[in-house]
Amino acid sequence: MKISKIINPVLNFFFPDVCIVCGEDTDKNNLSVCRKCLNKIEFIKPPYCQTCFLPLPDGGAHCWQCRKTKYHFEKVIAAGLYIGILRELILKFKEKDFLKMALGNLLVEVLVKNIDINQFDLIVAVPLSKKKEFGRDYNQSQLLAELLADKMNKEVISGNLIRVKDTKPQFELSRVERLVNLKDAFFVKDPSVFKNKNIVLVDDIATTCSTLEECSSVLKNAGAKKVFCAVLARD
Ligand SMILES: [Zn+2]
Ligand SMILES: [Zn+2]
Repeated sequence: MKISKIINPVLNFFFPDVCIVCGEDTDKNNLSVCRKCLNKIEFIKPPYCQTCFLPLPDGGAHCWQCRKTKYHFEKVIAAGLYIGILRELILKFKEKDFLKMALGNLLVEVLVKNIDINQFDLIVAVPLSKKKEFGRDYNQSQLLAELLADKMNKEVISGNLIRVKDTKPQFELSRVERLVNLKDAFFVKDPSVFKNKNIVLVDDIATTCSTLEECSSVLKNAGAKKVFCAVLARD
């Protein structure tokens, strides 16, 4: 058992209302992050790419990558940029599962602004590799998916989209290598569950969107109608 697993609940028992970023009082908001720190998060404001949510400082509807790529997903929706406080919170989230409240709320907020909630049926998390899941106690994308499902009154489907191949960490690779690396990495156990469904696919960070694309392609091949991707941060 990891030492943090023992210490964190103890710390949180004695200091339940302390901001994990700055140590100030959270005013009992149950988010473990104070309002001041939450306000410092840099949300993505227009103009951004209508497909991948990448900020476009020079305007336009699509980034150059999306102009030349046909994806299996409809679009990516991201809460903020992978910098500053949001980056810090996402990194901490790998160890501190209670951050799902603060981060999940951000994702719900940006999702309802960008897609019609009545338009989709199911929520699915990008699965972690077995190796990673073993070293960790949970898949943070799965926690986010569960929170989203709970807040939006939708069904979350776990264990049907699975990772069948342990891949190299994506950040070590170029764009083309990333796609090759992910080839045949995912698999749907029972396609009938996804047949004709509109799915929200959840992950923590989108860098080149290759993981989202590979999962979306597998979901579409399983019969899904549309896939929307929801991520905490665009890198
Ligand atoms: Zn704070
Ligand atoms: Zn784009």
